[in-house]
Amino acid sequence: MSSLIIKQIPCLSDNYGYLVHDPQSGETASIDTPDAKAILAALDDEGWRLTQIWNTHHHYDHAGGNAELVEKTGCAVYAPKGERDMIPGADHYIGEGDEVHLGEHRARVIDTPGHTRGHICYIFDDEKLAFVGDTLFALGCGRLFEGTPEQMWDSLYKLKALPDDMLIHCAHEYTMDNARFAVTVEPQNADLQSRILQIKALREKDQPTVPMLLGLEKATNPFLRPGSAAIRANLKEERSDDAAVFAHVRRLKDAF
Ligand code: ZN
Ligand code: FE
Repeated sequence: MSSLIIKQIPCLSDNYGYLVHDPQSGETASIDTPDAKAILAALDDEGWRLTQIWNTHHHYDHAGGNAELVEKTGCAVYAPKGERDMIPGADHYIGEGDEVHLGEHRARVIDTPGHTRGHICYIFDDEKLAFVGDTLFALGCGRLFEGTPEQMWDSLYKLKALPDDMLIHCAHEYTMDNARFAVTVEPQNADLQSRILQIKALREKDQPTVPMLLGLEKATNPFLRPGSAAIRANLKEERSDDAAVFAHVRRLKDAF
């Protein structure tokens, strides 16, 4: 089985679109569709034919390019079951326990509600690639537009359970802002401090900080670390419940 080729496409102001291509079958999936024109140009550059769209959630910067891409390519559209009728062109509805395929490659679907009610992520276990939409960001997590903090914590906990060498592909370049907040939550984290230096250097050269290894997120992302004694002490958080501490961190970020 040949390996997958990933093309990361900066779109709109701070989105990343992703094309995943399987050279063996010639199949290509677009994970979300922030900008149809940019995605069509990338397909054209590579000489790839779009066969599938895999949406993570219904927001315009994730599904806004669906209609044009379906019209131009006739591709299939996989969308979250929990967002039926909210995603243009959807013809397959999927959720936890389902799989999508790119040739012989297999991605597992997990439900990750919180940012939106029906948000899903796509996990290639064998290839160690995860496409997480607006659930987990580098040093951050998605805002809670439709779900509760408890739901979002359950969703992040599922992602946190994946192996450290899983490469996380999120849908926005929010890392510098997230870093400014993260350091206020856990200033004594040396891994976080050194990561921030690397992030600054990348952003000064206009380089992406995404994708990122899950192991580094586990060590530095405050939203994955509600169990950290340092974070609890810094927030004067006496509750032992991880979901409650997560909710506290999320509330602070909303007001940051
Ligand atoms: Zn969103
Ligand atoms: Fe988004």
